[in-house]
Amino acid sequence: MVQHDLQYWQDKAADLSFPCKAFINGEFVDAQSGNTFDSINPATGQLLASVAECDSADVELAVSAARKAFTSGVWSNKAPAERKAILQNFAAVIEQHQEQLALLESLDMGKPIGDAMSYDAPATARCIAWNAEAIDKIYDEVAPVTSEALALVTREALGVVAAIVPWNFPLVMTSWKIGPALATGNSVILKPSEKSPLTALYLAKLAKLAGIPDGVFNVLPGYGHTAGQALALHMDVDCITFTGSTAVGKKLVEFSGQSNLKRAFMECGGKSPNLVCADVADLDKAAATAVAAIFYNQGEVCTAGSRLIVHRSIHRQLLDKMLALVEQWQPGNPLDPNTSMGAMVDEMQMQRVLGFIEGAKAQGAKLVCGGEQVLSETGGYYIQPTIFDDVDASLDIVKQEIFGPVLVVQVFDELEQGIALANDTEYGLAAGVWTADINTAVKTSRALRAGTVFVNNWDGGDMTMPFGGFKQSGNGRDKSLHALEKYTELKSTWIDLS
Ligand code: NAD
Repeated sequence: MVQHDLQYWQDKAADLSFPCKAFINGEFVDAQSGNTFDSINPATGQLLASVAECDSADVELAVSAARKAFTSGVWSNKAPAERKAILQNFAAVIEQHQEQLALLESLDMGKPIGDAMSYDAPATARCIAWNAEAIDKIYDEVAPVTSEALALVTREALGVVAAIVPWNFPLVMTSWKIGPALATGNSVILKPSEKSPLTALYLAKLAKLAGIPDGVFNVLPGYGHTAGQALALHMDVDCITFTGSTAVGKKLVEFSGQSNLKRAFMECGGKSPNLVCADVADLDKAAATAVAAIFYNQGEVCTAGSRLIVHRSIHRQLLDKMLALVEQWQPGNPLDPNTSMGAMVDEMQMQRVLGFIEGAKAQGAKLVCGGEQVLSETGGYYIQPTIFDDVDASLDIVKQEIFGPVLVVQVFDELEQGIALANDTEYGLAAGVWTADINTAVKTSRALRAGTVFVNNWDGGDMTMPFGGFKQSGNGRDKSLHALEKYTELKSTWIDLS
């Protein structure tokens, strides 16, 4: 846990120099156009840095460098144990620099420094280390065929992988992509979100320090419709691995089809249901977890438990317990280690969330707490933790991903009805069920159409578990050995021995 105080982090922030150039072929460079875009601190609305605004010209340079590095074999053909050692070194330097990384993450996108220090920075190092460790422990296959042949089933790196990531967990989402992509020998071009480019650029510095060869890891800050789109349409990019909204994910799959049928792995949005049955064993735990499931990271979490679906017999009791906890989640200065909820990533996102809240109020939804912008005197973008109770399933706030600290509560009488409400969504990223009965737990987990189901918890899991969505939440999986597979092609080699 973080032991420092607000003053420590403010002093450290005042001394910080911000990485703001693109990283191509092992060098920090300006965008070809010379253009920059502003990185704004959402806690204050003030400018942090002017960052290189890459576009298709920079994409050309990065793809060419990445391809050259791949073809040279400097990384792709390195002995697995050597590649492992370099990636382990990368994980170690990330760990050594976790204060700088956590601080940049907090300043750039508004998350509490305590969360960035306890989760984002160490989880990034752990992810790189975990993938590194796997490198020399995975074997290829020999198929059971006639003695007149030797049939090999082997995996080879894809080539040039473009990773396009969002702003809500910039470091962690990046590590889930670049960890397995680099481990399997690919060259990588990372395009961070224009809303949170700073830690990606700092990672570039650490990659160089760790000994990752030039051209193998490149970082292009820039906008989605320019730099991102140029990567997704490029004929010499072999894979686009994406985390972000479903709307953009759908476009990227189209771009793959319009270009070279590059592998297109999409990790997209969610509207995850948290189902609390009448026989829940520990209502206090369920209440505390339900609140954290929606307010952690300002609700800007793809697996946010944004729909609480509760049995009528415990509805009032659960809600009262949750309302008693909401005070602990009032937003505050992200650099204060006591803050549990920080600032929304930017003004646009704050206005979008406030728009959902106003729309719901206008449609007659019952607001039981929050609903307002606060701390506007700071110049930052803060929203109160907000709960709407007993909401009709047809409302926008039930159907659409808000990506903010807004919870909708729905009530059920029969379990089948609760499951039907839970599954009544175009998304399928995560779901939770709370019950003391093992049969109910198993049967309900099976019935919930989601990539991850949490039983009597929320957000449980580690690097060993695949992470991804059913339905329009995506078509890929991050984490675990399954993620390593997707950055490789399967090759069959039939050797005639007759
Ligand atoms: P977004 O889709 O707006 O942007 C994601 C990335 O795509 C950014 O880097 C952006 O610049 C880029 N992009 C935008 N338009 C593009 C285009 N036309 N071509 C190429 N690239 C383009 O998403 P966001 O607002 O950054 O992130 C929030 C979304 O991410 C939410 O929907 C959330 O649920 C989702 N998310 C999903 C997961 C998961 O693992 N499934 C994890 C975190 C976030």
